[in-house]
Amino acid sequence: MIDQSPLVARMQGFGTTIFAEMSALALETGSINLGQDFPDTDGPPELLEAACAAIRGGQNQYPPGPGVPALRHAIAAHQRHHYGLDYDPDTEVLVTAGATEAIAAALMGLAGPGDEVVVFEPYYDSYAACIALGGAQRRCVTLERQGDGWAFDPAALRSAVTARTKAILLNTPHNPTGKVFTRAELTVIAEVAQEHDLIVIADEVYEHLTFDGLSHLPIASLPGMRERTVTISSAGKTFSVTGWKIGWICAPPALLTAARTVKQFLTYVSGAPFQPAVAAVLGGDLRAPAIALQAQRDQLCGGLAALGLDVITPQATYFATVDLGSDAVAFCRELPRRHGVVAIPSSVFYDSAAGDSYVRFAFCKRPEVLADALDRLGAAR
Ligand SMILES: *Cc1c(COP(=O)(O)O)cnc(C)c1O
Repeated sequence: MIDQSPLVARMQGFGTTIFAEMSALALETGSINLGQDFPDTDGPPELLEAACAAIRGGQNQYPPGPGVPALRHAIAAHQRHHYGLDYDPDTEVLVTAGATEAIAAALMGLAGPGDEVVVFEPYYDSYAACIALGGAQRRCVTLERQGDGWAFDPAALRSAVTARTKAILLNTPHNPTGKVFTRAELTVIAEVAQEHDLIVIADEVYEHLTFDGLSHLPIASLPGMRERTVTISSAGKTFSVTGWKIGWICAPPALLTAARTVKQFLTYVSGAPFQPAVAAVLGGDLRAPAIALQAQRDQLCGGLAALGLDVITPQATYFATVDLGSDAVAFCRELPRRHGVVAIPSSVFYDSAAGDSYVRFAFCKRPEVLADALDRLGAAR
């Protein structure tokens, strides 16, 4: 007989996610799903065409373990062009099955039993699970709301670091708050990392989805940081092809080797025809999605504010946060039946109770879908 709960102890508490519950509720009630974090439009036609050509051209077997050379070179060129960062495509770049695998491989390769990882809350849901899978512990530093933005207390970051801390896990631009960390904030994080000889794992999947003329600043570009930073990104968010799962890591050789050692036993390789397709477009103009997305942000945030909701306008990403001032879980459970819209209570991204009144709405949807959702929110069913 299989035990009632055969799940290993370190994965207890990571059962069915709220996303599954809310997606089921969306189907059942015919709701518009603003909980999902993927766009409802396709990526650029030339990218889709390049993947089809690669399939027809026979690129359908296992690609090289570190990724196809053309993509590794394109990633290195991208880091140099946008950020002035130089990486050797052969020893410092690794292609992964999305940023998700990159995060898993980096965390499991670099933080084990007895280690701690400092992470900002709210955090992306895979972080906690991957820290636990590796056998390490997480310690959270809360991003507090400050007017129309979010900030952390440097003293809170310093006190989260202990003798056991191995790494700081940073996500900028940040999901779910939409915050773009400033140079001053990154400097504080860099100082703490250097004082305590910590690794920084930087999830930068929204690097090109910033608004209002703001630019993303990679922490690896700060003095003394390239040597201790594992930078992660993904074609999924940059090119609106989240189903392709082409991500990557840039890091100095020792850190990259640690992640690669784990990665080779997770998926080994993936995405043979998608890798050359991404390589073909990564050097192009990457701003178009952000321009469209900024208009969608303005449409959703403006509409929510007009309904009298307290909206915190994001500087980047796919997400806007509403502060209800009361229990967001109850609100989100009722929302599909009352208004035919699904949103996510941000408390699922927190360890503490600091996010209990926040709701995350995704605006990476076509304008007519957002207009319909706003109409529904304005009228009870
Ligand atoms: C979407 C997302 C990922 C996952 O990226 P994939 O390339 O789809 O695996 C990782 N981190 C954050 C913050 C995300 O929003």
